[in-house]
Amino acid sequence: MKKASFKFKTTVWITLLVTLICAVTIGGILVMSRRVAGSEIRQSLIRTVERNADEIEYKNGILEIEKDFVFYSDGVYCDVYGENSELISGNSPAIGAEKPFANGETSRLSGENGEYYVYDTFLSFNKYEYEIDVFTGQIIKYEADVCASEDISESGYTVTSFYGGIDTEEAIAIALNHAGTDRENAKIVSAEIPGYENRQVFKIEFVCTNPLYSGIWIRGSVAASAAESTFGAINKAIIYIIPLFIAFAALGAYLISKRTISPVEKITASAKEINSGSDLTKRIETDGGSDEIATLAETFNEMLERLQISFENEKQFTSDASHELRTPLAVIKAECEFALSDKADEKDKQEALVSVSEQADKMTALVSALLTLTRTEKGMERFNFEEADLSLLTDEVCRSFKTQKGITLESDIEENILLNMDVSLITRLLENLLSNAVRYGKENGKIRVALKKCGSETVLSVEDDGIGIKEDVLPKIWGRFYRADPSRSGGEGFGIGLALVKKIAELHGGTVRAESEYGKGSKFIITF
Ligand code: ADP
Repeated sequence: MKKASFKFKTTVWITLLVTLICAVTIGGILVMSRRVAGSEIRQSLIRTVERNADEIEYKNGILEIEKDFVFYSDGVYCDVYGENSELISGNSPAIGAEKPFANGETSRLSGENGEYYVYDTFLSFNKYEYEIDVFTGQIIKYEADVCASEDISESGYTVTSFYGGIDTEEAIAIALNHAGTDRENAKIVSAEIPGYENRQVFKIEFVCTNPLYSGIWIRGSVAASAAESTFGAINKAIIYIIPLFIAFAALGAYLISKRTISPVEKITASAKEINSGSDLTKRIETDGGSDEIATLAETFNEMLERLQISFENEKQFTSDASHELRTPLAVIKAECEFALSDKADEKDKQEALVSVSEQADKMTALVSALLTLTRTEKGMERFNFEEADLSLLTDEVCRSFKTQKGITLESDIEENILLNMDVSLITRLLENLLSNAVRYGKENGKIRVALKKCGSETVLSVEDDGIGIKEDVLPKIWGRFYRADPSRSGGEGFGIGLALVKKIAELHGGTVRAESEYGKGSKFIITF
């Protein structure tokens, strides 16, 4: 996997993520809807059974199942069983009476054709209504029904005596006797002779707390598969849809990662091209956007720019340094050849040796300046930094400096200015500025050295009234091997002096600046 491409990895990760989210979501939905649908089915089962319970009556010894009783509706079967589990009515295809009855409970049972939800309710006939002839004491009509509990709590009845036939108590006794119970196990709800009857009858109503005719069972059942068939269909659909979904997710992930990675691929291609051709001038093409990839490309281009400048500087530096060394070497070679030839007399040889010595000094100065420059570029660890008196050092350098061309040196130095510095480097900085002021100064001119404290800053300046510097070359004078006008330096200098001044100042946390008027003079200002 480590070696796999970014596109491959992204595709795999996104696909796995999508699959996981899919699995969790679909699983959750299935569990939830299965529960909801299961409870829906059970509720409808209970409703159907309870509604059917109202459609059963027991009249004059006959169990009456009214025509509104629903034996089958919406997958729910209802059957009526006797007290001893014998089927009275109904034709359930699956769950018979062999499974035990449980009043008011829903359960899941296994039948011949699979699993079923089953709900049983027991109808206990304990409310009795009798009509008894007041003259003969004969039972005309009787009916048993399911008694609600609140009916039992009702008590009290009207006693109606009837002369010429049986009285209320006798009528009650006849009814109770017929129902097979006695006064102790029955609560009389009413016993009266309603006036509307043609024949004179007692109407007796009582509730039996210990019923003899216990009642019947209504068993409702619904195939669990009815509830689950929907899920079966969903399950099947999911089996087909999920792989399709994953395939789409993988394709999407691949396209997204391809699109995302394409700018990076462009960058890689450009980098490879630059690398193979070693052409640092090439740049990565950007579409001008501001996203992370565009920023990366721009940063890459900036790095290339810096690399290019750095390489070019190095090349320039090597070629300039070798050029500067070649001239004195050529002079030395020529002088030596001349001195060794037959044409040279003693005096010529002497002069040749002087010239060789001068060229050697020149080369030493150049090599020493280059060495210092290289060392300053490597940081301040290589130098000996300590807090020292800059005022004293500046004064000493000015005093010991030998001017030429009749130039006078003035100094205006504020006392006791301290600086954390490398004394040899600051001495070199001062000497470089002073020798430039002499080299580019006019005959009998003036050099002015000033050192001042300005707030938290220390300002050192070296000013001359010499040839000055043209405005357009002013920014270039700090570059290595740059010489504005070599013909006017009297053949001296390598164009290293100011580069070194700048490096030394920077190493001491300072900045350099030059002000000049061409033909009138220049001022070099160092601020620490
Ligand atoms: P160089 O060895 O040529 O003096 P520097 O790095 O010291 O090299 O100076 C770079 C260039 O800046 C010089 O060639 C010269 O043209 C110009 N320059 C430096 N100092 C002065 C000055 N005091 N007056 C006029 N031009 C100066």
